[in-house]
Amino acid sequence: MLHPQKRIMVTGGAGFLGSHLCERLLGEGHDVLCVDNFFTGSKMNIEHLMDHPHFECMRHDVTFPLYVEVDEIYNLACPASPVHYQFDPVQTTKTSVHGAINMLGLAKRVKAKIFQASTSEVYGDPLVHPQPEDYWGHVNPTGIRSCYDEGKRCAETLFFDYHRQHDVKIKVGRIFNTYGPRMHPNDGRVVSNFVVQALRGTPITLYGDGSQTRSFCYVDDLIEGFVRLMATGDDVTGPINLGNTGEFTIRELAEQVIALTGSKSELIMEPLPSDDPTQRRPDITRAKEVLDWEPKVKLAEGLKPTIEYFDRLIHDMGDRIAV
Ligand code: NAD
Ligand code: UDP
Repeated sequence: MLHPQKRIMVTGGAGFLGSHLCERLLGEGHDVLCVDNFFTGSKMNIEHLMDHPHFECMRHDVTFPLYVEVDEIYNLACPASPVHYQFDPVQTTKTSVHGAINMLGLAKRVKAKIFQASTSEVYGDPLVHPQPEDYWGHVNPTGIRSCYDEGKRCAETLFFDYHRQHDVKIKVGRIFNTYGPRMHPNDGRVVSNFVVQALRGTPITLYGDGSQTRSFCYVDDLIEGFVRLMATGDDVTGPINLGNTGEFTIRELAEQVIALTGSKSELIMEPLPSDDPTQRRPDITRAKEVLDWEPKVKLAEGLKPTIEYFDRLIHDMGDRIAV
């Protein structure tokens, strides 16, 4: 073992990113406690870890207090896709805000370092492009995305106040769109939707004319960024943007997915959801300087294992995938 084993808690550990993080931390020899209420996460994502002697899973909702003894906390619990976070918007805000209060309180009591999975959504529909961390954002406080965007913004406020007021060691990472195996097939996010549609040969649903842009980061690159940020000294709090700077229109993404799957799916246009950001690309200067980190996996490369994953899943799940 390269370093002493730590007791690390991952909230949202049964979700897409959380399950990859648990796997990575176990691989480094740590003792991992996965805490999840299984709202969007699934036991399937972590079933390969269940027999690991250093892995433990607890069903718990972070909006309620939790008493455990750990050295580090990665706070990922929160539905991330618009379909899921808009399903019960009050619970979404509670998960971000009450969840942050509970996890920060725990970190304060046990003197643990705590990482917050924040989001590019704190920039809203940005008027500055690409987005650096010192941009304060352009967020609608009352729209259908606000439960997520404002919940995450308030969580950041709480993290910085616990740091200033109680000396809690915080690490705030602002995650930009990330994709890869174990994304939920029915969560409506663009990569999972397009890949499933292409594999099935059903129409690919462009919302609006598909000219809006996103920057897509492959999951392995992102997890490397998480671990590097957690390993920084006490002087580093973030916020730090974590994302890939390759920017694509949604139509370009659809074309790449069609080319890689050899699909015959046609592109169809559907209404653009309200408050859908028109452009998004991270400025990762700070991550490069502070973490010596930048993504390595290009979109076309990362789409391949993602397509393979969904191909297997469609084979196993068939009609239970709703897209
Ligand atoms: P996900 O939906 O797959 O994972 C979220 C996990 O949190 C799920 O396992 C879910 O069951 C769990 N959860 C939700 N509410 C909970 C609660 N109240 N108590 C306990 N567990 C709860 O989403 P993901 O893509 O893995 O996202 C993980 C984190 O990263 C989220 O906080 C999300 O906001 C953030 N993030 C993700 C992206 C992305 O592109 N994937 C981008 C920005 C931010
Ligand atoms: N999108 C789309 N078709 C889909 C799903 C999403 O055109 O089937 C668009 C969506 O309107 C948005 C972009 O793809 O402009 C990214 O959507 P996603 O929900 O993945 O992430 P977010 O909007 O939170 O960045």
